Amino acid sequence: MPVLDEFSLIQRFFTPTVSPASVLLGVGDDCALLTVPPGEVLAVSIDTQVSGVHFPVDAEAGAVASRVLRCAVSDLAAMGAAPLGFTIALTLPAVDEAWLSNFSEGLLNTAQTLQCPLVGGDTTRGPLCISVQVHGSVPPTHALRRDGAQVGDVVWVSGSLGDGAAALAVLEGRLSVPMDAAAWLKNRFYQPGIDIDLGVALRGVATACIDVSDGLLADFGHIARASGVAAEIDVATVPISPVWATIAGTTQARQWALTGGDDYRLCFTAPASAQAALCAAHHSVMPIGRIVAGQGVFVRDENGMRPVAGPAGFQHFSAR
Ligand code: ADP
Ligand code: MG
Repeated sequence: MPVLDEFSLIQRFFTPTVSPASVLLGVGDDCALLTVPPGEVLAVSIDTQVSGVHFPVDAEAGAVASRVLRCAVSDLAAMGAAPLGFTIALTLPAVDEAWLSNFSEGLLNTAQTLQCPLVGGDTTRGPLCISVQVHGSVPPTHALRRDGAQVGDVVWVSGSLGDGAAALAVLEGRLSVPMDAAAWLKNRFYQPGIDIDLGVALRGVATACIDVSDGLLADFGHIARASGVAAEIDVATVPISPVWATIAGTTQARQWALTGGDDYRLCFTAPASAQAALCAAHHSVMPIGRIVAGQGVFVRDENGMRPVAGPAGFQHFSAR
């Protein structure tokens, strides 16, 4: 069977049959043309995932596609932006039609679920690597930036933490768990729930927001620094999934919830006066701490309060 040429490959696997009306022109021209709603601005972010670094080399293609797109759209959610569309830069070692078909199905299904259509891309040959650039829109005064946390605000998280780190440990063979727990964790890793609606609902309510990709303490450190404030996190209130709580003892479950990455929950701050309304409208959100005057992130547990020392999350390039 002859190998597909680049344009047939794009036509066959990466050309959605339907797109929303906001996509004036999608895959196939020099650029896509997207309509930004009046009064809103573009929110743009790019994410790269490398085989063997961000996902196991033998990962199923459709699962990889779902993860890559979800992780990228998570940044839109964290900004309070609504998705307009995404482009993909795909570097492939070879044209493997079965792999591509699986990848394309996962990608286009996820795009449909997240209401973020594929509008263009670039296809090259090389070691497997996938970049997704997402485009969204948000009213400029309501974007959920990192620099708006105020002393007195409550710190919130949108769901359980630690599952992503546990999932990665299972996938890498560092942690062995019962089969049903492994399946649940694997699903959390490849299909992290992305809180787009929550991000949009937090416009005008949250004072700062970030998605937890590198670990709660590390990511919240970015908010504290950008806002010029300190944060106190009550360790006992950080939500932990029943699955992770059952597998790990309290110490390890909490440790990974605070420092593990790959959860893609939203962590945000809001005035204390918003607490009742937030709890009523969003059942998964949990208050986990508060903003105080000062610098840095502090954790409080049975042993009292202590500062978080050094960078607590994953870094690709770290000083030795
Ligand atoms: P150009 O040479 O003008 O940059 P390309 O030849 O790279 O364009 O791509 C042709 C068209 O196919 C463009 O519209 C581009 O956005 C789209 N495209 C290329 N690769 C992909 C892909 N993997 N997924 C979706 N669209 C793609
Ligand atoms: Mg061109």
